Amino acid sequence: MQAEEGKLSGETSDNRPYVSYNSTLTRQDTGEKLNARYRNKDGTYNQTELDKVTRLMRCSLTGREMPVPVKLLELLDAVEDRFGKKGLILLSGYRTPKLNGQLPGAAKNSLHMLGWAADIKIPGYSSTAVKKYGLKLGAGGVGYYPTKGFTHLDVGKVRYWVVKKPPRKRYVRRARQRPSGKAKKPRLGARRRKSARPQRKNRLNLCKEP
Ligand SMILES: [Zn+2]
Repeated sequence: MQAEEGKLSGETSDNRPYVSYNSTLTRQDTGEKLNARYRNKDGTYNQTELDKVTRLMRCSLTGREMPVPVKLLELLDAVEDRFGKKGLILLSGYRTPKLNGQLPGAAKNSLHMLGWAADIKIPGYSSTAVKKYGLKLGAGGVGYYPTKGFTHLDVGKVRYWVVKKPPRKRYVRRARQRPSGKAKKPRLGARRRKSARPQRKNRLNLCKEP
């Protein structure tokens, strides 16, 4: 009984995360909400509930499903529990190669195509807080998208990356307006900013893995 009560705190006394085995996920695109109690009282997995999660995390383009790895579900559950157990917003779960290929900026070998990854948001919490906790758990990959406000979590190798909004092209515009008519020599970095420009067009919530 005491162990059950302890689970409400989110962490054990030695900082190991608890998992409630009860996960609430909402798909952002369709608004579907699922509360999955994916473990039975005896600790075994409940296949019916796992199937519901698999269905929820289906490819948004084709509707195809890929069985959700229990490790990913427990990782998501641990994160959910840490941030108040109020549920996670799922932006992207399983992707067929067709969908992944249509997403500019998505990694060619994205773990989303194995069903091993999820892009999530937690209402009321910043992506900074979520990625910090993801890193602390060290259960797989963590992708940090501060300007898009979501975090990528997967159960592949432990790794970390950040995708920030490319800087503005302000300098180039100013150079054209010089009254002398003489173009100022671009500073180092100006070219790099220019090449980063196409990423700005991408307004979808995408996952670019390294
Ligand atoms: Zn992702």
